[in-house]
Amino acid sequence: MLTEIRAGPYTVRGISVGGVYTSLQVPELGVVLDAGIPLRSFAGTDHLFLSHGHADHAAALGALLGIRVLIGKPRPPKVYFPAEIEAPLAEALAGLGRLHHTDMRIDAVPLRPGETWPLGHDVWVRAFRTHHRVPSLAYQFLRRVPKLRPEYHGLPAQEVARLRRAGEDLFEESERLELAYVTDTLAHVLDTAPALLESRVLILECTFVDGRRTVLDAQERSHVHLDEIVARAERFQCEALVLMHFSQSHSPEEVQARVRERMPAALGARVIVFAPERGRWFG
Ligand SMILES: [Zn+2]
Ligand SMILES: [Zn+2]
Repeated sequence: MLTEIRAGPYTVRGISVGGVYTSLQVPELGVVLDAGIPLRSFAGTDHLFLSHGHADHAAALGALLGIRVLIGKPRPPKVYFPAEIEAPLAEALAGLGRLHHTDMRIDAVPLRPGETWPLGHDVWVRAFRTHHRVPSLAYQFLRRVPKLRPEYHGLPAQEVARLRRAGEDLFEESERLELAYVTDTLAHVLDTAPALLESRVLILECTFVDGRRTVLDAQERSHVHLDEIVARAERFQCEALVLMHFSQSHSPEEVQARVRERMPAALGARVIVFAPERGRWFG
């Protein structure tokens, strides 16, 4: 069963188990985040983001492209990834194409940290450098919307409409930071890219949740420990903090309990654990 949660105005569905597989879909933005497992209902999505090339995030890309052909999608998807992996990704897909005799074309969008790219309508994506053992990116989805310039604030609506008709330049463009996806990184990313903390919804990895793996263990593996999130609790401004990519060494129930116990109340009310309530991990 896929996990599905509601975070602010967004739905996040999919599967995430650290080191095993992670693939999430946010239908309201029309995006899939990572392809560690080929989920049938994700194959038709036109914008796919790879955080990095590790197998638990990227190994199912070929299978997902195969399903896309099967369901009759006429165009290849746009696949966004760290620019450094452009050549190995192209080689891997070419090899899979020869192996499967299937169309493995993608519309490749290599991105570098700091780049912003339009997805269509008013949605854009911005890439941030994360800190992992291989080239990796976090993605922040934003909306660019017109906002009344400060000098016109407080004017009656009729006056605004009159000025607009008269051709006055009343609006400036503003960015609404909607949702960020941050995985496989040192928690240090929250210091190097603090703008991620301003996202309305923040999806963040939390691979280890108790003392069986210490903060130091997590840092050695370039991952985030729950203790590091708790230590920064006051810095999270988001409406919803979605924690995922838990290690399979914790059961879903343990994860739910540890996060509930450890999170300070002010942040705890906004935290959503992306894991089954009980039972076992998917698969
Ligand atoms: Zn991972
Ligand atoms: Zn990784």
